[in-house]
Amino acid sequence: MQGSGRRTVVGKVPVVMEGLYASVIPKIQYMRVTVISPEIHTYGAMLIGGVLRDAGYEVDLKTELAAREATPVLLSLYSTQHLISPAIRHFVAAHRAAGGAVYVGGPVSAAPEIVLGELSPDAVCVGEGEETVLRLLEEGPHEGISGCAWTDKGAMRFTGPAPPAPMHRPLPLIPPDIGSQDIRGASAYIETHRGCIGACTFCQVPRFFGRSVRSRDLGDVLAEVQAFKDAGAKRLSVSGGTGSLYCCSPDGAVNDEVFAALLEGMAAIMGPKNISSPDIRVDCISDTVLDAIRDYTIGWVFFGLESGSNRVLRLMGKGVTAEVAARGVEACREHGLKVAGSFIVGYPTETEEEYEETRDFIAMNSLDDVFVSIAEPIPSTPLADLVLRTPREENPVYMPHTGEYSSLHLTEAEARSFDLQQHADLFKPGLHVVTDEVFSAYLAGVRKDGEDVRRVTELLFSYYGGR
Ligand code: SF4
Repeated sequence: MQGSGRRTVVGKVPVVMEGLYASVIPKIQYMRVTVISPEIHTYGAMLIGGVLRDAGYEVDLKTELAAREATPVLLSLYSTQHLISPAIRHFVAAHRAAGGAVYVGGPVSAAPEIVLGELSPDAVCVGEGEETVLRLLEEGPHEGISGCAWTDKGAMRFTGPAPPAPMHRPLPLIPPDIGSQDIRGASAYIETHRGCIGACTFCQVPRFFGRSVRSRDLGDVLAEVQAFKDAGAKRLSVSGGTGSLYCCSPDGAVNDEVFAALLEGMAAIMGPKNISSPDIRVDCISDTVLDAIRDYTIGWVFFGLESGSNRVLRLMGKGVTAEVAARGVEACREHGLKVAGSFIVGYPTETEEEYEETRDFIAMNSLDDVFVSIAEPIPSTPLADLVLRTPREENPVYMPHTGEYSSLHLTEAEARSFDLQQHADLFKPGLHVVTDEVFSAYLAGVRKDGEDVRRVTELLFSYYGGR
């Protein structure tokens, strides 16, 4: 199978490329290309759009599944659900039938065999795609391009993940409607660094970007913030779960002065009320970090707390105990910050007693906001391996719930998620009444989460076997 983008030449004026990536493609280019990230303009899609623009391409950046006939498409997919979406599968097949190549990249590329098996694109751009996409568009997939997987005579060919991309790169291609985008309160999430020192077993970040942190130049980040503001972005946030690891030392020690300078610089451009708090690890805070969040953002900290059980936290590879997490929450309060936390329920082997420890943690720490999700086995993570080793009848995502909510016909994981959301409302500051409407919304939400996680689990079983 091949998919050279050369099949479509639509531009009229040759563009001489002088950008950062010009050395990897020819000097004259006429190509139009469509970059699609379903539903939202992701930072990754905007970044790839910027790389292509600077390399001389005419780029259509879209959130809907549509492209001109026969133009090459880069499909940037960020959720495993995209791999089992009939609409995306249909789009890929129809676009290829119309003569356009389709290349898939983004976080889903960590499992190229599933991408190829489910969507049948021309190729998968595996790992950090800034350089690979340019060569794929120009040459189609072949053994000489790293970070590339495709199907040949029914078998997968894979050249291994792309090497880490340079952190100095073009400005993203920012769509004119960026100001109307609202992703958890922000128009966009700015990437300040890649990689994480953590090893959380459910998380793809250290597998995709590595465990050493590579940071961008502060001037580059602030130039980008200015570009987003000029394009109409209303509020920006720092992307990823490790905000304060920006410019950390090789052993992961927080460089709090540089982090504070980052937030101060962003606030000087956008205004502090338009910078939202970065997600951070509870063991990556300091007085300077928390003061900077208070002074230069809307004043919220978001922690991935996950569980109140130390055994489950160990199983998750969080690297912190519930006691350390509680001290982190307390430190935020002492610095005048509000604290939100996310929790994961239904991790394989999580017992009822361990779930109760999570309830107790929430009761004792009165978080200002709480987000609950069911453990989702993202392909390529250790959690996915654990799920594959866990018989369905022992996995809370499948086990029928027989307790308090048995009349609602939930699974154990769904029941815990449903229960924890209502429980958290009781302990948030202020009055939070669980009305019939809220009850129904929580119930519908956990049912959908449970169904989504089971679909991903079945996908894993179908590719890697299971019990
Ligand atoms: S700290 Fe956050 S980004 Fe790092 S591995 Fe854990 S969940 Fe992932």
